[in-house]
Formats: sequence, structure tokens, C-alpha cells
Amino acid sequence: MKELDYIVVGLGIAGISICEQLKNNNKRFVVFNKGNYTSTIVSAGIINPVVLKRFTPVWNASNHISSSILFYKTLSEKLAIPLFEDMPMLRIFKSNEEQNNWMVASDKNELSSFLHPEIIKNDNQNINAPFGFGKVKSTGKIDTVLLIKSYKEYLKKTNCLIEESFNYKELQQKDNHIIYNSYRSKKIIFSEGFATKDNPYFPKEIINNKNLSEKLILPNKGEYIIVKSPELQLNNMLKTTLFIIPLGDDLYKVGATYDREDDSTNTTNNAKKELVMKLKKIINCPFEVVDQIAGIRPTTRDRRPFLGTLKENENIIFYNGLGTRGITSAPSLAELLYQHIENNKSLPNEVDIKRHYKW
Ligand SMILES: Cc1cc2nc3c(=O)[nH]c(=O)nc-3n(C[C@H](O)[C@H](O)[C@H](O)COP(=O)(O)OP(=O)(O)OC[C@H]3O[C@@H](n4cnc5c(N)ncnc54)[C@H](O)[C@@H]3O)c2cc1C
Repeated sequence: MKELDYIVVGLGIAGISICEQLKNNNKRFVVFNKGNYTSTIVSAGIINPVVLKRFTPVWNASNHISSSILFYKTLSEKLAIPLFEDMPMLRIFKSNEEQNNWMVASDKNELSSFLHPEIIKNDNQNINAPFGFGKVKSTGKIDTVLLIKSYKEYLKKTNCLIEESFNYKELQQKDNHIIYNSYRSKKIIFSEGFATKDNPYFPKEIINNKNLSEKLILPNKGEYIIVKSPELQLNNMLKTTLFIIPLGDDLYKVGATYDREDDSTNTTNNAKKELVMKLKKIINCPFEVVDQIAGIRPTTRDRRPFLGTLKENENIIFYNGLGTRGITSAPSLAELLYQHIENNKSLPNEVDIKRHYKW
């Protein structure tokens, strides 16, 4: 039997950020990772503190931003890869009213460090933006494909990665330990994204305050198209009805869609049509669609993640529900979770899996 402190199941950004906590604290662990649902790889990898539809800050924005930028820069150095790109985000204004709303928002305490108090003129004739742009501060872009590939290689070097599906039937609990095949571990952390729907230890449904049953993790499918456009010549991220994200070599990631009904990871013609139609309204130069990808965001009804255990002193732990902003929020959430498990610090009620539910 190999003695461990932790077994981690799932290596998306939730798994990676918790592994970094374990590594930094010299914990012994292995990670199981295999499956079809991989939200992190598909993600645009944008670090952005602001809801750009309404000009409001995201929950806990300052903590998320300072933590995530430091986390990805440190990881870039550790793995010796160009993971993080400091890239500005421009929000296209649709009207004078939006310009005014931006200026009012940029004056508010909670937003002044994120919104540039200026209307930027458009000087790219290939972009339709007669009302100009607002610039968001503290934004950046993560190469999530490179992140997952490099982190797997990093774990493999120390034999910490097992590229197998975790078989829940093999999990046993004995003497306050988790037994799984030849491993004996103090705790197990499930960070499986949307695939948690198949985990018998994760509650399928809960009873809410109104005594109604509801699902804990809800799928929110997102699709992107990758387009090539040598004429576009865009060096920053753009946001209007969709995001346009420069990838280099005249390639751009354009999206995403939001679909709560379809929980398959197949790409669809409808999504492609919708994205092409929207893109044509924003840019007026030719482009060619060269690829399309789809993933499932693990979202929750109240848009807050699920961290922690279901019962006191439990050694089965969950780290899920990262929703639409997991790349931005995972590093600071992993720290909260680690401090909770190891040092008994309370989790904020908003993110505690036990919040306002009767089990
Ligand atoms: C289209 C799209 C765009 C997005 N854009 C952004 C963005 O720009 N910025 C941002 O901050 N967030 C963004 N997000 C959200 C972000 O990607 C997610 O919140 C985050 O990736 C969720 O990470 P996760 O680790 O929980 O899940 P995942 O990334 O899905 O990882 C879970 C892993 O667990 C593995 N697994 C599951 N079950 C098992 C098992 N039984 N055994 C072994 N392995 C298992 C899976 O194979 C997978 O590798 C986007 C998401 C999508 C889909």
C-alpha cells in the first residue's frame, strides 16, 4: 500500500490549482485524470475582473485577479513556458449611452481599479466601432492548451499522474482513510468539472429553501470558432456580443455560445452560424473559419462554486462549480479550500458546498 495525503480526481484548472497548493505544502498525492469533459482546454483563458455586459465587478474580483495573475506568472516560470500574456481587453460601445454608463462605472470605488476612465477612438478600419472602446485594466490571457499539456508532463516526471478514469466502485473508507487500489490516502478531492454528474459521492439533487429538488451542477455548453484573417490586425482582446481573442499567426478565437440544454461536447452547425453572423457585424474584412471547439462549463444556480465537504470531519472533498470564470477564480479558490481543509479556516458561506441546502 502506498501512503498518500491526497488523491485528486480531475486535472482541469480546479485540479491544477489544488495540486499547486499540495506541492507548495509538500503533500504526497496522485492525480487521476481521463474523460470527455474538459472545460479548461476549450476555454478562452481570459482573466477579466468585470462583467462587461453590465459594467459590474465579478464576485471577489480583486482577490481573484491578484491571485490568478501571480499564480499563472509563477507557473510560467516554474514550467518554463509562455503561459500568461498580459493582453488588454477593449469593450466596444454600442451607443453614447453606453459610453456614459462606462464613465459613471469607472468612477465607482469597486470598479475604478479595473475600468480606464477614457473613451478610446477606433483606428482600425476593419472593426465597426463608431462609438469607440472602453479599456479594462488587469486583464490577460492564458494558453490553456499549453497549460494542461505542460502540467501533465510535469506531474508525470514525479509519477504523480495516472491517466485513468477513477472507478468510484473501488473507493473504500477505512479507519478514517480512503483506500483505492494500492493507495491509502488521508483525503480525496474530486475536481471533475461537469463529469461530476456521474460521481455517486456528489449529491445529484438537493432540496432548496422552498423544499423543491434541484440539480447542483448545471451544464452550460460553450462553442468557439477559430478564424483566420490576415487583414484584421488586432492586438488586443475585443468584447461586444462575443469575444475576439488574438492567437497569433492571424488566427482569432471567436465566441462563445451559451447553451443550457445540450450537454454533449460535439460542435454544432447552429453555433457556427450564430458566431459567424455576429462576427460579420463586428468586422468588415474577410475571414475563414478554420476550426471549431466545444466544452461544458460546470455552472451552479447561484453562480458560486462548491467547495469543501458535505459533513463535518469528512475526508471526501469537492472543488467544483467554477462556472464561466474558472480560469480567473481557481487560484484564489484553491487557496481558500486548502486553508479550510488543512488549517480549519472557515470557507466564505457563498462558496461552501453546505450553504443554504438541507441534505
Ligand atoms: C467555451 C468556454 C469558454 C470559457 N472561457 C473562460 C474564460 O475566458 N475565462 C475564465 O475564467 N473561464 C472561462 N471558462 C470557464 C472555465 O473554463 C471553467 O470554469 C473551468 O475550466 C472548469 O475547470 P474544472 O477543472 O472544474 O473542469 P474541467 O476543465 O472540465 O476539468 C475536469 C477534469 O476532470 C477529468 N475527470 C472527470 N471525471 C473524472 C474521473 N472519474 N476520472 C478521471 N478524470 C476525470 C476530466 O476529464 C477533466 O480533465 C470557459 C469555459 C468554456 C466551456
